[in-house]
Amino acid sequence: MFRYKYRQTNPPGEAQMTTATQTKCACPSCSCVVSPSEAIEKDGKTYCSSACADGHPNGQGCGHTGCECHK
Ligand SMILES: [Zn+2]
Ligand SMILES: [Zn+2]
Repeated sequence: MFRYKYRQTNPPGEAQMTTATQTKCACPSCSCVVSPSEAIEKDGKTYCSSACADGHPNGQGCGHTGCECHK
């Protein structure tokens, strides 16, 4: 297994636009919207948490308030 790449800083070449584009978590059962600075990328998709990126292997949710994506 490989570890997920956590985005902690923006690449130098990536200019900050007016507002950060928010992306929905790629997990089908997840309704979270994730900002690029907090996104976890796996296989070219964007997830809100490592639990979502993993497909909730232990029935663990993303932990975001109001989201029940682990069920
Ligand atoms: Zn979620
Ligand atoms: Zn998610």
